[in-house]
Amino acid sequence: MAYSAEVLSRARARLAMAKEDRESENREHLQQAYAKVPRLKEIDRQLRATMALAAQAAFTQGSDPTELLEQARRNNLLLQQERAELEALYFEEGYLDDSPICENCGGSGYIGSTMCECLRELCRQEQKKELTFLNVGRESFDQFRLDYYPDREDPKFGVNIRTIMEKTYQTCRRYAQNFSERSQNLLFSGDTGLGKTFLSACIARAVADNGYSVVYESAGHLFGNLERAKFSADEQARKDADRYMTCDLLIVDDLGTEMPGQFTTAALYGLINDRLLSGKPTIISTNLTIEEFEKRYSRQIASRLRGSYTRIPFVGEDIRVLKNR
Ligand SMILES: [Zn+2]
Repeated sequence: MAYSAEVLSRARARLAMAKEDRESENREHLQQAYAKVPRLKEIDRQLRATMALAAQAAFTQGSDPTELLEQARRNNLLLQQERAELEALYFEEGYLDDSPICENCGGSGYIGSTMCECLRELCRQEQKKELTFLNVGRESFDQFRLDYYPDREDPKFGVNIRTIMEKTYQTCRRYAQNFSERSQNLLFSGDTGLGKTFLSACIARAVADNGYSVVYESAGHLFGNLERAKFSADEQARKDADRYMTCDLLIVDDLGTEMPGQFTTAALYGLINDRLLSGKPTIISTNLTIEEFEKRYSRQIASRLRGSYTRIPFVGEDIRVLKNR
């Protein structure tokens, strides 16, 4: 799972802050407790003293440390018991709990060289925020309504529309569940208002929830950023353009609605090709047919889509019209 350096550094900063907060809260609670119950401070001092004494005894030559250690241990137990009783008497449960922010890694985020689950979770959260910046809503597969699709034959495919859409839905759902770096490329094709944007947003959210980096972008916005990244010193556009290439899953919504032109054609070819070469999955949704792709962009692009993308059909009647009826 490839988290970008930016996601990782935001997650680590959050963990460091949480660790600092926890430690200062622990210190503050202890100071307040000492002020309220001075005996606690005395107990802690004695505990530290007996520990030091026991350590010393263990290293003193010529004497038998067993008896001393045993005495220190009993002493400690009594002190700890008294401390617990005072705590229960004067403070809410857990008030003097001085545990670190994470029991597994102590708040460093790593156990040896392995990333701890606490940091992993923060990475997942930061990853999802990136997606939210790109305007993906709360779409989820459970909200998909098959009954918006007519229960009759599609004239073009000669198959029941609802049957086609049920298959499309299941394919999308499985794709999201089983997503990996080796997932295939998908081409969502069909007219406007048949759920392409909805289902691609569902995939975006589900795949991001599984911890992958996902970029979801409308074609217009995507080409605008690529153009700015190439022809101006726009730092943000350059960052976005990098992410189009490096993210685990790129979803381009509504390809064919952007302004046409030479730059767009070249940029699209570059994007499709680079992601194919690096083996990174891409989903493209469009109203265009492959033949229209050839006319609007180029034969090479049409051929790449034909050869390397699995076509997912969207059929039926415009859902937005049905909803308003
Ligand atoms: Zn941890």
